[in-house]
Amino acid sequence: MPAQSQLTARLIEIFSAIQGEGLNVGTRQLFIRFALCDLRCHFCDSPQTWEVPSFCRIEQTPGCRNFETYPNPVPLSLLLGWVERQNQPGLHDSISLTGGEPLLQASFLVEFLPQLHRLTGLPVYLETGGHRPEQLAMILPYLNSVGMDIKLPSVSGENRWQAHARFLQLCHDSHVDVFVKLIISATTHPPELKQAAELVADCSPSIPVILQPVTPLQSPHDLPILPPTPEQVLEWQALMKHHLKSVRVIPQTHKMIDQL
Ligand code: SF4
Repeated sequence: MPAQSQLTARLIEIFSAIQGEGLNVGTRQLFIRFALCDLRCHFCDSPQTWEVPSFCRIEQTPGCRNFETYPNPVPLSLLLGWVERQNQPGLHDSISLTGGEPLLQASFLVEFLPQLHRLTGLPVYLETGGHRPEQLAMILPYLNSVGMDIKLPSVSGENRWQAHARFLQLCHDSHVDVFVKLIISATTHPPELKQAAELVADCSPSIPVILQPVTPLQSPHDLPILPPTPEQVLEWQALMKHHLKSVRVIPQTHKMIDQL
């Protein structure tokens, strides 16, 4: 048995919502948002996840936004109890592990995910920066699908090409469904899109890629991040389709309908 102290999670929140991004767009998911991230993407819309807050917030009734707060870190048994309460019959299509970067808590997830599966039977979807292959390997057997980012340096300020390649290969060699998400902005360097397309195609040209135009940030920032023009989006999708079978353009739809 692992020491009891290992069986705690650092959480931001748990809530039931409509997935607004990627291949699962429009489906109902139970979101478990983990604290901590080791990246600092320029376009990050959840910088509150970078550190561990003293308290996490837990929705009491699915979709009602009636949050209560609890201190961090959270024992595994308590987290399972919250999930069980949210798991109303037929409501959720899957459970989303999101963040922050959930893989920073891989040791917890190794213990948590088999119990989560026994409790709910729901598919488990991991939303990740796609740069921590060693931690991914620890929990791959317990995942059903993975949405991984490839961080374009010209947009995110992060440069993780080698880690992304190893990460994607691990997913591809396993049983999980994987897709790749690229955030694009007006400052995207097209050679980086070509590099990303080649990286994915080297693994398999059939892996779906989502181009996600950045959502203009609401709050004042030093450097405003602007979405690409319609012409840029068309040109860049065409560029990537030279290498890949499936390249879709999907913005953050949850923000269009004012959802969490
Ligand atoms: S990986 Fe995600 S949570 Fe972390 S800084 Fe980038 S956008 Fe924000």
